[in-house]
Amino acid sequence: MKTFSNRVNAITASPTLVMNGLAKQMQAEGIDVINLGVGEPDFQTPKNISDAAIEAIQAQKTSFYTPASGLPALKQAIVENVSQRYEAAITTQNVSVTTGAKLSLYVLMQVLLNPGDTVVTAAPEWVSYVEQIKLAGGELIEVHSESSSMKLTISDLDKIKETVKLVIVNSPTNPTGQVYSKQEIQDILDWSNTHGVYVILDEIYGQLVYNGAEFTSGLQLQHLENSAMIIVDGVSKAYSMTGWRIGWTLASSEIISAMNKLLGHMTSNPTVAAQYAAIEALNGEQDTVENMRQAFEQRLNTTFEAINKINGVHVDVKPQGAFYLFPQVDEKLKKLVGVSNTVELSTKILEEAHVALPAGEGFGMPGYLRLSYAKDQDTLNEAVLRLTQFFKKYTKD
Ligand code: PMP
Ligand code: GLU
Repeated sequence: MKTFSNRVNAITASPTLVMNGLAKQMQAEGIDVINLGVGEPDFQTPKNISDAAIEAIQAQKTSFYTPASGLPALKQAIVENVSQRYEAAITTQNVSVTTGAKLSLYVLMQVLLNPGDTVVTAAPEWVSYVEQIKLAGGELIEVHSESSSMKLTISDLDKIKETVKLVIVNSPTNPTGQVYSKQEIQDILDWSNTHGVYVILDEIYGQLVYNGAEFTSGLQLQHLENSAMIIVDGVSKAYSMTGWRIGWTLASSEIISAMNKLLGHMTSNPTVAAQYAAIEALNGEQDTVENMRQAFEQRLNTTFEAINKINGVHVDVKPQGAFYLFPQVDEKLKKLVGVSNTVELSTKILEEAHVALPAGEGFGMPGYLRLSYAKDQDTLNEAVLRLTQFFKKYTKD
């Protein structure tokens, strides 16, 4: 019988990557599309990092398998980086390097979840959590927090009646850009310890915080050994290395061993040249990270104001990190445009205004659009102009 698995039939394609693909296809057809659809920095990977990969290839270091969990030198670089940034004492036994942070998350769901296990996260949440949990047979509870910043709180967690196996917290958050305070992270860790629940802290945007906001890593608050706290991070966002596919998990050696067992049957190891690039990213000079961070900060400040000037479109709480705005679109405005939801709206905006913005539906929050401001200021200005004109067309009497 020629059928596909129920597993793959149950999931939908990544809406961010679909939108990226659509925008690129239109660009290839000669249409001038502004692609604010996918979350990736617009900067080239810093040269010292690319050069390290080229040197590794030329020195014939990249031909053979590495340990499934990554090169010892990369794990050591991660350990040193973490100990400098967070004064956290971890060892290489607490590190598993994966083909992007996305694979870390995928493998963690496979390691931690049995069919029917409950996972909690705050909506809106990053698109891949939803499908990765499904693929592991888990049941997702999307908390619609009462807090205006849409963060997960202890009072939200206390209201959940089901037995929870795992909580996922993403700070800074994709797509809202909110940053959890030290106290908020501490509260969630305390709650998870009391209830014997795993916590994944997705810290992929941890170095991208703005206007004086302070990022707190779980590593500043709790040890990893014998703990149910798991950190996911990587080089994609802070070092502008999305295409290199290097991420990692930091967790107790027990969790890491279980992950490595699985990785040995999945990837064997992350690409070696990319691992050498990641070593240089972590050990080399860090000025480029700060320069990119400052550029994102300026773009946030200008784009946040500009978006809020469009009638019927608003971001209520200013983001403090990552590189997304998640504006809500008023019901009245949707009606005037002639759409019944934000999926239809995002399609219409792509077709008519040539701006790619994924809809909130993919993030568990209909009524919103996501805008990635990881683009140069001129492009962002042009995008805002196009959006303003698009909505004006439907609102003028
Ligand atoms: N977590 C979040 C919240 C993200 O936005 C991304 C970006 N795709 C990832 C994890 C995965 O990052 P990557 O696989 O590029 O390391
Ligand atoms: N994290 C990015 C985003 O949310 C990259 C795309 C993806 O992996 O989904 O757009």
